Amino acid sequence: MSGRAPADFDAIVVGAGFAGLYMLHRLRGLGLRARVFEAGDGVGGTWYWNRYPGARCDIESLEYSYQFDAELQQEWHWSERYAPQAEILRYIEHVADRFDLRRDVQLSTRVTAAHFDDASGLWSVETGSADGSAERERHTARFCIMATGCLSATNVPDFPGLESFRGDTWHTGRWPHEGVDLEGRRVAVIGTGSSAVQSIPFFAEQAEQLTVFQRTPTYSIPAHNAPLDPELEREVKADYAGFRARAAALAFGANFPPNETLALDVSAEERERVYETRWEAGGLGFVTAFGDLLRDRGANETAGEFVRGKIRSIVHDPEVAEKLLPSQVLGCKRLCVDTGYYDTFNRDNVHLVDVSASPIEAITPRGVRAGGREHEVDAIVFATGFDAMTGALARIDIRGSGGRPLADKWAAGPLTYLGLSTAGFPNLFVITGPGSPSVLANMVPAIEQHVDWIADCLAHLGEHGLSRIEALPEAETAWVEHTNAVAQETLFPFCNSWYLGANVPGKPRVFMPYIGYPTYVAKCEEVAAKGYEGFALG
Ligand code: NAP
Repeated sequence: MSGRAPADFDAIVVGAGFAGLYMLHRLRGLGLRARVFEAGDGVGGTWYWNRYPGARCDIESLEYSYQFDAELQQEWHWSERYAPQAEILRYIEHVADRFDLRRDVQLSTRVTAAHFDDASGLWSVETGSADGSAERERHTARFCIMATGCLSATNVPDFPGLESFRGDTWHTGRWPHEGVDLEGRRVAVIGTGSSAVQSIPFFAEQAEQLTVFQRTPTYSIPAHNAPLDPELEREVKADYAGFRARAAALAFGANFPPNETLALDVSAEERERVYETRWEAGGLGFVTAFGDLLRDRGANETAGEFVRGKIRSIVHDPEVAEKLLPSQVLGCKRLCVDTGYYDTFNRDNVHLVDVSASPIEAITPRGVRAGGREHEVDAIVFATGFDAMTGALARIDIRGSGGRPLADKWAAGPLTYLGLSTAGFPNLFVITGPGSPSVLANMVPAIEQHVDWIADCLAHLGEHGLSRIEALPEAETAWVEHTNAVAQETLFPFCNSWYLGANVPGKPRVFMPYIGYPTYVAKCEEVAAKGYEGFALG
């Protein structure tokens, strides 16, 4: 690349999860000098931090893995249909070792700032130790690549009195590595999203009393997890590339083929039969039971009513069952996938507190006060989710050309071109950023697609003697409008979901992921084929 000012690295990558590690591998393949900074004491990102009991993937393991290396995908054996957290972390560690990635990953190092310098054309990245104890350091690089994850910045609501609580508190996304002993303890769980749905059955087994504070009841579909079927594994491995290609044409992978039939075009009996089949199959495929579930409210309501019927049949106490019934659009918050969630509310030691009408008022020294009543507990689990998609970026002081803070540019919501790049921030890339399918696709293939696109782009710059790439404002505006328009055609904007930023008070309400993975991939390929249309190269 021409006009290169001396820099410590060609590229700095922030984060050593699935995205950062594969990015490093590709950068090395291009002969570029790269350094990955990672706040955790180990690699793995999401799967390093989320160690709460019951944590596992909601995408089937044969699909939730890298495909960039044929031997890797042949040799790795998943033990279960849905891999547990520990096994996914082992897999990521195996990849780090197998491709000798660790020597360029600096652990326990938090990136606090990244500033673009117009004069040198370099990014200056400031790091400190993860606990803030060590001196800050600065490192320069031509390219800065954010592999910071969509669900990595934890969200603990600002409950009055939080600091006064005398017992233990944990967030599911920062679970202690040594584990937690709940034996004989009274435990509160706040939240009923995916993390809560997975962990509550385990907490209920251990704790003396478990009190669940529910603001919005959730739709959860049984996982029907089981040891991985060896016959299925053989079949997939006999043509893994074909399996991946089929998966890429769908949102959630090859095992979730959508049914194009419209729910309201068939009889009630036929709908019931299809829902029952999907419920028995288990998992996220429930939401693609019919082609109109996320587009037509009436159709969606039939699916919602089916799940409500299941909840009524599983939960013995009609009052508890009633409280657990979700009423929002099914699937517009991410569907949960569970093992024994609703059934857990049949246990004598499990209590459900509905805080939808009377919110949690305070955390007291002895527990949680809601609806004028203090619930005494010894420990509180915050299963309260994440400042999703933009939170990890917002926690870094990112400044682009002219010193403009990203926080200012994104004050009314994230603005990106393809979710990969943002105008005014040259040579900055975001892997699975807002405006890309990310969380509405299978994350690992979505990450690989982004990493490959970025790597190919850097190769293109190198081949053409170029050193700078930046999204054009008009391309960005058009992309943001298109992303919004696509979302408006669906039922996704109708819930207070983290897709919309609605779970974090004060966060702009903007639908962040791009809906439609195959269309998105085609667009990225077209942009590259047209010489990076919509970008200024120099
Ligand atoms: P989440 O889906 O955002 O759920 C957070 C929960 O906390 C919600 O029930 C929310 O209620 C509640 N909450 C937040 N603030 C509250 C407050 N002030 N008072 C009372 N309740 C409050 O977070 P998550 O469960 O960690 O899951 C986040 C995402 O991570 C998932 O959607 C999924 O994409 C991913 N994930 C995946 C898996 C998996 O693969 N199986 C597992 C865990 C997480 P409201 O709904 O009313 O806001």
